Amino acid sequence: MKIDVVTLFPGWFEWFTQQRHVQNAQVLGHELDFVDLRASTPLNAGQVDDTPYGGGAGMVMRVDVVEAALRERYGTAPPPHRTIALSPGGRRFDDALATELAAEPALTLLCGRYEGFDERVHEHLATDVVSIGPYVLSGGELAAMVVMDAVMRKLPGVLGHEDSALEESFSEALEGAPEYPHYTRPFDWRGHTVPDVLLSGDHARIREWRLERSRERGRS
Ligand code: SAM
Repeated sequence: MKIDVVTLFPGWFEWFTQQRHVQNAQVLGHELDFVDLRASTPLNAGQVDDTPYGGGAGMVMRVDVVEAALRERYGTAPPPHRTIALSPGGRRFDDALATELAAEPALTLLCGRYEGFDERVHEHLATDVVSIGPYVLSGGELAAMVVMDAVMRKLPGVLGHEDSALEESFSEALEGAPEYPHYTRPFDWRGHTVPDVLLSGDHARIREWRLERSRERGRS
């Protein structure tokens, strides 16, 4: 998979790209790259935004600036693959969408700033508008990292132990529910002990117990 992030702040991703699973993904041949929106703006003095039609506070990111960045990168705009504009008002990001995106050969993530993108970016340059939750961040960079992290850990080999991503919260294996509780040593911590079933060695019972705890969490 090839992921490009279009951003005004490529430096935000320096820490992210140093993380183990992100580096694992790159060793496996997946590519991660960052496109600086300001580098290709056709406007003077690196301008990328403008005042909103109709008035109001803040600045809006211009559609022609985003188009120029995409054309320089791909020779065409919109790009020839799935392109996600990050926005608080978009489709809520969830495990199902992460699984869907992990199957794509290429993704472009568009990070907004200020008041966000001119609506025509959403309508004509992106295939999807995605929100990581009902709150407002200062920019799309953290949202892009959330999306990339969730997508990349689903790529075979990235976690190093394949089962981890198959049976975890919200996965099909757990019927879409949160994961069951985990315990490790010590068995007795200040009087709080581990459920007996987990020490029984009876794998069918353990599996049933875990599924039931997971379903309970899903109902609450
Ligand atoms: N004026 C916008 C609103 O009220 O919906 C908020 C813009 S926000 C300050 C700037 C940028 O941060 C957005 O264009 C988007 O790219 C990103 N962003 C902020 N919150 C986000 C969220 N919950 N999910 C995805 N992206 C978000």
